[in-house]
Amino acid sequence: MVDRPFYVTTPIYYISGNPHLGHAYTSIAADVLTRFHRTRGRAFFLTGTDEHGQKVAQAAAAAGLTPQAWTDGLVDKWKALCARYDVAYDDFIRTTEPRHTDAVVKVFEQLKERGDVYLGKYEGWYCTSDETFWLEAKLIDGRCPNPECRREVQWLSEDNWFFALSKYRARLLAYYKEHPNWVRPERAYNEMLVTIETGLEDLCISRVNLDWGVPLPGGGVMYVWLDALLNYITALGWASNDEKFRAFWPANVQLIGKEIARFHTIIWPAVLWALELPAPDLVFAHGWMTVDGDKMSKSKGNVIDPFEIADRFGSDAVRYFLMREVPFGADFSISEEKVRMRHNGDLGNDLGNLVKRSLAMLARYREGKVPSTSSSAIGPRFSDLGERVAAHLQTLNFRDALEAAWELVSALNRAIDETKPWELHKAGSDEALDAILYDLCEGIRWLALLLAPFMPNKSLEIWRQLGLAGEPSGDWRAELRWGGLAAGTITQPAADPLFPRIDAGPA
Ligand SMILES: [Zn+2]
Repeated sequence: MVDRPFYVTTPIYYISGNPHLGHAYTSIAADVLTRFHRTRGRAFFLTGTDEHGQKVAQAAAAAGLTPQAWTDGLVDKWKALCARYDVAYDDFIRTTEPRHTDAVVKVFEQLKERGDVYLGKYEGWYCTSDETFWLEAKLIDGRCPNPECRREVQWLSEDNWFFALSKYRARLLAYYKEHPNWVRPERAYNEMLVTIETGLEDLCISRVNLDWGVPLPGGGVMYVWLDALLNYITALGWASNDEKFRAFWPANVQLIGKEIARFHTIIWPAVLWALELPAPDLVFAHGWMTVDGDKMSKSKGNVIDPFEIADRFGSDAVRYFLMREVPFGADFSISEEKVRMRHNGDLGNDLGNLVKRSLAMLARYREGKVPSTSSSAIGPRFSDLGERVAAHLQTLNFRDALEAAWELVSALNRAIDETKPWELHKAGSDEALDAILYDLCEGIRWLALLLAPFMPNKSLEIWRQLGLAGEPSGDWRAELRWGGLAAGTITQPAADPLFPRIDAGPA
């Protein structure tokens, strides 16, 4: 189906403070995926902010503001983070927008009509920080069992609305068995399957003692987690724009951090089924980012500011690092030193030098004009490279996609060392010199196309240096044919290196 857009979401970010690098990580992955799918057809990328809940209300009160004024003031920082990393979303939803809150009330009413929502008494332990209820048995030393939290919990006793999650247990089990790839990586799938097998309790979905949320008919507000999950369908116009909604749902890929897998792979599909909607095709839970094995935290003083690191290395280099360092889904450690190694090594020495040397030789030996040639030593070896990179991207193997592209980087650098164009020039071997110079330029054109989803700025710079018009965003299946670069193209090499070396020490 060519016409159905590829629909990608990030979690909407909980706006209780400033954005950090972990948020940028998820958004960048979604952006890479979306840019890749845009080369093949339509794609739609949704992100946004989760603005309700007790933690937001408390933070606003501490700042002496209403929650709405407080979130209004913060949302621009979140949008600025996307802009800083060239995260080109199609829609940014805020859960305080009427298009969302109106639909949330409709969801509530529909679920109630179906008998999937009922009134009951909720008594239990509540963690304000996580906005989560915990069973007594789950508490550790009387505190929140979330290993990242461990805060004090409060005893709550309220009349509340419940979602009949337990009713969907059998369907969830069957769905997991029939769709063994719908939750990735496998570890997340296995953990969630065990959780379902162990048993599911109905979910309390309202709060009576909180007013910063979507008001429900009869009093109270919607539980912030259900409110948040619904953004994935309210942004598409569920119950208000049927045509758009049908064209986009179910989502192809929903990216999340692994700490919120339970909400997205147990509660979310059950709610969707209760609304007679299909579950998303894939929920992918990425790993956690640490600094030398430690969680980033203000108290440890090891927080990497996402804006500062982009200023230091450039947004493309940070994007490259995040996608290249480990297989997507694994935990990893980041440090300035590690980013600098990738920047100076992979990007500066390998890719940047390749472009610089190649275009400099072309300028020296052929006045910057791409020669024509009838033979290629490199093209035939890489005829399936586009398909290989695409296959990795379709399965969110960002690192493998980059490693495959780097096979071409290495092959081109090796070809320079082996053919020694300066000797061919001296010996007057014009045909052989034309062949290698063409291969280098054509290979670089391929790299600009293949790397564009990862490094949109540098890819465009390479494209321009090749003397090409437009952007390296065309359909790979049409563009990635060796020989696509027209002979006679006048290149425009830049004087400055693409990735100037960055030394250790203060910026
Ligand atoms: Zn907690």
